[in-house]
Amino acid sequence: MKNLEQLVLDGVRDVLGTSASRIALHEPEFGATEAALVQDCLDSTFVSTVGEYVERFEGMLAAYTGAKHAVAVVNGTAALQVALELAGVQPGDEVLVPTLSFVATANAVAHCRAVPHFVDSDFDSMGMGPGVLGEHLATIAERTPQGIRNRRTGRRLAAIVPMHAFGHPVDMAALLAVAERYGLPVIEDAAESLGSTYHGRHMGTFGVMGTLSFNGNKIVTTGGGGAILTNCAELALRAKHVTTTAKRAHRWEFFHDEVAWNYRLPNLNAALGCAQMERLPDFVERKRALAKRYQAAFADQPRVHFVAEPARCRSNYWLNTVRLDAVDVTVRDRVLATLNDAGYQSRPVWTLLHELPMFAESPRAPLPVATRLAASLINLPSSAKLANSRI
Ligand SMILES: *Cc1c(COP(=O)(O)O)cnc(C)c1O
Repeated sequence: MKNLEQLVLDGVRDVLGTSASRIALHEPEFGATEAALVQDCLDSTFVSTVGEYVERFEGMLAAYTGAKHAVAVVNGTAALQVALELAGVQPGDEVLVPTLSFVATANAVAHCRAVPHFVDSDFDSMGMGPGVLGEHLATIAERTPQGIRNRRTGRRLAAIVPMHAFGHPVDMAALLAVAERYGLPVIEDAAESLGSTYHGRHMGTFGVMGTLSFNGNKIVTTGGGGAILTNCAELALRAKHVTTTAKRAHRWEFFHDEVAWNYRLPNLNAALGCAQMERLPDFVERKRALAKRYQAAFADQPRVHFVAEPARCRSNYWLNTVRLDAVDVTVRDRVLATLNDAGYQSRPVWTLLHELPMFAESPRAPLPVATRLAASLINLPSSAKLANSRI
C-alpha cells in the first residue's frame, strides 16, 4: 500500500502537473484593466482620500453581492472591528467566534476591548457549528434585563460572528435560528467568501452586517482593503462616517462631530479593486473548475477526503482543502513536508485561536471538532490560473 504522503502528492501532481518553479498556495492575477485603472488614478493625482474609484468600487461590491450598501475600508480586520462596534459590542462584552479562523476574527473583537468566546466547528463546513453553538448557549446563557449573560463569567454576550472557512458557507438558516432564540446580532466574517452563496444568496448579506477582505491572498485584491456590507441605510451611513474621521461634509470647513477612525480605503487601492471586480465571475468559475479536478483526483481515496461545498451552497473555493483520515499532526506534517518539498505550497489550517497566547484565558465551548480538523486539514494550491493547467 502506498504511504499517505505519496498518495496526496500523486493526487496533487495529477491535477497540477509538474513545474520547474514552486506553485504558490494562492496568487493574485492582474491584467490590462488593472494597469489602466491604476494609471488613470495616478494621472488624476487623486490617489488618496478623494476620488471616484472608492464609490465605484462600493457600487460594484453591492451589485455583485446583492447587499444594499457596501462601505470600503482599509482592511478586513478594521471592517470587522467597526461592524462589531456598530452592532453594539461594548468593552467587557463577549463575542462568539469560531476557534477555527484567521486571527483577525478574534483580534477585531479584542480591538473593541471585548473578549472572544470560542465556538466549535461543524465537521463538514469547517465553520461555526449551529448545533454545538445552540447546545453551548443552552448551557451558559442566562437572560437578564441587560441582555444575555454568560453565567460562568458574568459578562454580556453581545454578538455571534460566523466565518465561512475557505469559502464554504456556514449553515446560515440554522445559525440565524439560534441567534434569534437569544436575540443576538450576527455579523458575518465573509473575508474568504466573496463569490460564495448559501441557498442562492451571497455570503455577508445574512447578518445585520458582513465584512470582506481584499488582502493580497484573497479572491480579489486591492493590495490591502476591506468592506462592510449591510442592507441597513442607517448603519451604512454610520459606517462611512466613523471610518472617515466623522467629518461633516462641507466645501472648506473641517468639523468632526465625534472621535472616529481614519479607516478609509485609498482611491488608488479602490481603482485596483474595480478592475479586479470585473474579473471576479471568471475567477470564481476557474476556481470552481480547479476544485472539481481536485475532487475527482481524490474521489477514490478512502484516506484523503476532498472538502466539497455544503448542499445548496456554491463555494468560491478560495482555498482547496483535503481532510486526512488520520487525525495526527505528525502524519499531517509529513504530508505537508512532502508537498512543499515537491514545490506545491501547502499548509495546515491556522493554529486554533484558543491556543494563541493572547487568547489563552478566553472562554470557550468544548472544541473537539475544530481540534480534530486542525490536525487533519491541508490547504492545497488554489490560484485561479491553475484551473486549466497541467503546467
Ligand atoms: C483575511 C481575513 C480577514 C481580514 O484580514 P485583513 O488582512 O485585515 O484584510 C478576516 N478574517 C478572515 C477569516 C480572513 O481570512
